[in-house]
Amino acid sequence: MSSIETKSRVFSGVRANARPHVGNYLGAIKGMVELQDKFDCIFSVVDLHTVLVPYDPKTLQQSIRDVVLDYLGAGLDPKKCHITIQSHLAAEHLELAYYLGCVYPVSRIEDLPTYKEKKAQYPDYINVGLLYYPILMAADILLYNAELVPIGIDNEPHLEVAREMARKFNGMYGTKLVEPKRYATTGGSVPSLVGEGKMSKSKGGTIILTDSLEEIKAVLAKAVTDSGQGDKFPETGPAANLVTFVELFEGHDKAQQYRSMYKESGIRYGDLKAELAEAIYKELQPIQEKRKYFEEHPEEVDKILADGKEYAQKIARETLEEVRQKMGLV
Ligand code: ADP
Repeated sequence: MSSIETKSRVFSGVRANARPHVGNYLGAIKGMVELQDKFDCIFSVVDLHTVLVPYDPKTLQQSIRDVVLDYLGAGLDPKKCHITIQSHLAAEHLELAYYLGCVYPVSRIEDLPTYKEKKAQYPDYINVGLLYYPILMAADILLYNAELVPIGIDNEPHLEVAREMARKFNGMYGTKLVEPKRYATTGGSVPSLVGEGKMSKSKGGTIILTDSLEEIKAVLAKAVTDSGQGDKFPETGPAANLVTFVELFEGHDKAQQYRSMYKESGIRYGDLKAELAEAIYKELQPIQEKRKYFEEHPEEVDKILADGKEYAQKIARETLEEVRQKMGLV
């Protein structure tokens, strides 16, 4: 039984609504891999967040497992970090979320852009759980007193909520909940290939971590393009999005070449997409090989999750004990 590490702590999680895509990988999972060498890391599949929006109970267990396999394939090393399933620690996460929710204004949650987006996306499913999303996310992090959170830019407003909650709670009860900061990776906002904004599970057009070269080519073939030429390289839109992908997977120099090409001979998107597909696949292939190993050794994965739960639960219970005492509940 391992004792609790004294190193600074890191927490992050990915939902199990759909297969993790390269946005999740570059914005969050790659950051987790980077941090596991130096910090005491807990990385979770946040399945309690998955059930806030419409989902299929019949496939949920497989979806959760797929995220775990992607984590391991991407390089999370169970010797260096702890992997948990949030619902295996539901009592702890939900208890803290309830206490945090008791001190936080509804109006502040209603103002969050992500809440407004979800409301627009699921107009027939605006349930209380949706309001609880940022509260539960704050609890996920504050429960472990995590100082650093590797997550995409889209999640920054939620982290601000977590900091506000920690401050308010500490002010009211004299607890010492830690205010978390975002750990930024170079791919903090991977653009969508099919529409506005960031690549997202709910929009489709995603490149998932197990895609073959052919599948990557097929997604890129559908990516929106423009004429490929103009006086000024655009800051937003199809050219900007595709060249951001080039920057992330083929490097800055290659991206600059395309930016110049746009103002001169013009970008030939067929060529760009073909090279980009190869570069993405080159990054994903080793992930897929490692993932396959764990897929073929389910008992190892079960052990990793059991160890992760045991470790995380010790920390979570310590935090809750302190919170309950300070709140006068014991
Ligand atoms: P999604 O936002 O795709 O539905 P999650 O909510 O499970 O997926 O997000 C998991 C992690 O991936 C979070 O840290 C989130 O900020 C990050 N993330 C999601 N989409 C992107 C993206 N397009 N670019 C960078 N990071 C992203």
